[in-house]
Amino acid sequence: MDSLETIAAEVVACQRCPRLRDHCLEAARKKRRAYAEEDYWGRPVPGFGDASARLVVVGLAPAAHGANRTGRLFTGDTSGDWLWRALNETGFASKPHGRSRDDGLVLTGCYVTAAARCAPPKNRPVAAELAACRPYLAGELRLLPHASAYLALGRIAFEALLATLRELGLGPLPARGAFRHGGLWPLEPGGRTLLASYHPSRQNTQTRRLTRRMFHAVFRRARTLTTEHL
Ligand code: SF4
Repeated sequence: MDSLETIAAEVVACQRCPRLRDHCLEAARKKRRAYAEEDYWGRPVPGFGDASARLVVVGLAPAAHGANRTGRLFTGDTSGDWLWRALNETGFASKPHGRSRDDGLVLTGCYVTAAARCAPPKNRPVAAELAACRPYLAGELRLLPHASAYLALGRIAFEALLATLRELGLGPLPARGAFRHGGLWPLEPGGRTLLASYHPSRQNTQTRRLTRRMFHAVFRRARTLTTEHL
C-alpha cells in the first residue's frame, strides 16, 4: 500500500518527461539573477499538506524560478503569495506566505498538489506529459479519503483533475470544457464537490481577470463546504 511519502519519493525521482526534466535542470543551472546565490531544487516537486485534508487544491505545475527553485509547490513565486494568503485567511494555512520548503508553513485540513510536477516551458505541459504525471495525482487522491472539496486552479488543472476523478470513478462529473471561475459541481449527493478558480498567475492577476476578492470568495466557499460535511 502506497503512502503519501512513497508517492512523494517517486515523484522526486521521476524522469518520465525528458523535455520537462531538461527545462527544470536548465533553469536550475542558469538561475534568475535575483536567486544567483541559491541552490535550486531542480527536481520534480511533490505535493504536500495534511493527510487528513478535506480540501485538495490542484495547481498547474511548478514555476521554473518558483517551486523548481524552492522544492515546494507554490513557494517562492507570486502565485504562491496569492494562494497562501487565501488559505491563511480561511484557516487552512498557518502563514499568509511561503518562502522556502523549511519555513514552517503548516497546512491544516488542506493538501496542495499539481497536474504536473516539473516546470514546463512557457507554463504549458503537453497532453502526454500531463498523462504521464496523472498517476501521481490519482495516487494522492486515493490516499486523501477525507477530502470533500477538490479545487482546480486554472483550466489545465481542471481538465487534469477531471480525468483523474473519472479514473477514480467519482461523479457525476461536468463535461470537458466546463471550466469557469467560481464553478461548483457536486460529485455525489451530500458528498464531495469539485470547484474551479482562475489560476493566480501574474497574467490573470495583473490584468485583474482575477482579483483578490474573486479568489478569496472561492476559498471561503471551500471552507464552508468542508465544514458542512464534517
Ligand atoms: S511532469 Fe510528472 S511524470 Fe513528467 S517527469 Fe515530472 S514528475 Fe515525472
